[in-house]
Amino acid sequence: MTLVNLNDVLLDAKKRSYAVGAFNFTDISTARGIVSAAEKLNAPVVLQFAQSHLPYMSLEEVGINAIQLAKKASVPVVVHLDHGEDVATAMKALKMGFSSVMLDFSLKPFKENVKATKEVVEIAHDLGASVEGEIGVMTRDDGEGMPDYSHLTDKYTKVEDAKRFYDLTHVDALAVSFGTVHGIYREKPHLNFERLHEISEALPIPLVMHGGSGLSDEEYRESIKNGITKINYYSVMSFNVVNGLRDYLNARRDKQTFLYDCDMEVIRLVEEDLMKKIKIFGSTDTALVAK
Ligand SMILES: [Zn+2]
Repeated sequence: MTLVNLNDVLLDAKKRSYAVGAFNFTDISTARGIVSAAEKLNAPVVLQFAQSHLPYMSLEEVGINAIQLAKKASVPVVVHLDHGEDVATAMKALKMGFSSVMLDFSLKPFKENVKATKEVVEIAHDLGASVEGEIGVMTRDDGEGMPDYSHLTDKYTKVEDAKRFYDLTHVDALAVSFGTVHGIYREKPHLNFERLHEISEALPIPLVMHGGSGLSDEEYRESIKNGITKINYYSVMSFNVVNGLRDYLNARRDKQTFLYDCDMEVIRLVEEDLMKKIKIFGSTDTALVAK
């Protein structure tokens, strides 16, 4: 298997109603853990890097390492730029060989979002890569209490906006807002599956969930049933790995511990956490038919 784009894995997921895990990495150990979790379960995976994490690692370093990992993986791997904040960075990623990019202009006016996304889609498709766009507002839980999405509000992605956005841009996948938030949930979210279902019925493309940290297994399953085929999950994994590493180091107080030992432990912890998620998302053993 090898480097593939979103269509190569998400169209099958949409057809057979499962979701492909999209996991963020911020260093090589995390990236290795992500690919190895997918390999152990024979599942396709999206190996993604958010533009906001670039202060740690340059796009060149990210690209070279992720593409290499994807090429030698035993399962299909999408190398994806998460939350591209400007057209130039998305274009740079595509030219470097990323098989997919997200352009997130969801906070900008609709027209501007369409124009920029369309520009990236045209180049990406010429290069055989895919593009994820976003319509709607996905906030972050800032500790001020959860936004209440239990009633339809104009913060949800509107069906007609999603349809118009797709018709104008031809994105390959669309991130929609139906009640999830980025980061860690402080309160139980109110997910609007009805709206999600309506969007899914109206669009021919796979839908993406952002803010996949901290939902119940049932909420994941219900989201998938209503059209979600890519789930972005990072925050809870990140905390679980840090806590696991703390326990590991505490248990080794009297032993010599090298950085290498920590790297190997991080790979193991990432793998352990993500395998649980891949099983819930239902993508175990789908790698063979994915491509
Ligand atoms: Zn996101």
